[in-house]
Amino acid sequence: MKVKLTDDEIVLYLSACTRPKVVECVAGATARIALRGDGVSGGAAKMITEAVAEAAASGLLIYRCSSIGSCGVCGKSAGYALRKRASRAGRKGSPMYDRPLYMSGVELRDSFVTMKGHVSIGGCKECVDAALPRIVDLVTAAELRWFPDHLDFDADVKREDHYACKKCEWSGRESYVGRSRAMMGNGTYPSTCPDCGAKNEPFGKRHISIVAGRHSVVKSGAVLREIDP
Ligand SMILES: [Zn+2]
Ligand SMILES: [Zn+2]
Repeated sequence: MKVKLTDDEIVLYLSACTRPKVVECVAGATARIALRGDGVSGGAAKMITEAVAEAAASGLLIYRCSSIGSCGVCGKSAGYALRKRASRAGRKGSPMYDRPLYMSGVELRDSFVTMKGHVSIGGCKECVDAALPRIVDLVTAAELRWFPDHLDFDADVKREDHYACKKCEWSGRESYVGRSRAMMGNGTYPSTCPDCGAKNEPFGKRHISIVAGRHSVVKSGAVLREIDP
């Protein structure tokens, strides 16, 4: 027998259970209830908790644009192509159910298996983008790959260039590079290799330089994603 419980019932009846599957289920329900209390719709709460669980399980979330027939979060559907002229199958303007249309969606789970018109975790672009701040907030330790730059809504999120040292093998984020006082003004600039101590002098040899194209998106000191062209 299979019984479908609401999130509130799951928390009410199953909280005392210690079986791992049930504990996981109760945690998911608790998270969805908290999100709903925060004004997040049921569909969005489901997607967010799925994304957070996926991040915890696999350590990775991706942002991959993918066409979908309908959105499991808001219920919007791309519909079907309409008949341009009347035929035996239907009158002009009626939907052709063998010709589904697609709209822009986003897949968050990294998977080899994809189904056309369907995402495993995600939804339409609008729903996923609206939920991203909460997902980023709730994911504590996972790589977020290819997430869009509009994550910069959060002042805490910043972009860091990568630097490399010509004298030794070191390369890494700007926050690791030592800084020198600029000759003009009162700023500083990245100048010193954290590994071998080689230093760029104002008119001398340049040991430390930017690695073109490569950067990290960092939030509160933790790398959210690395961009490596
Ligand atoms: Zn949607
Ligand atoms: Zn060095």
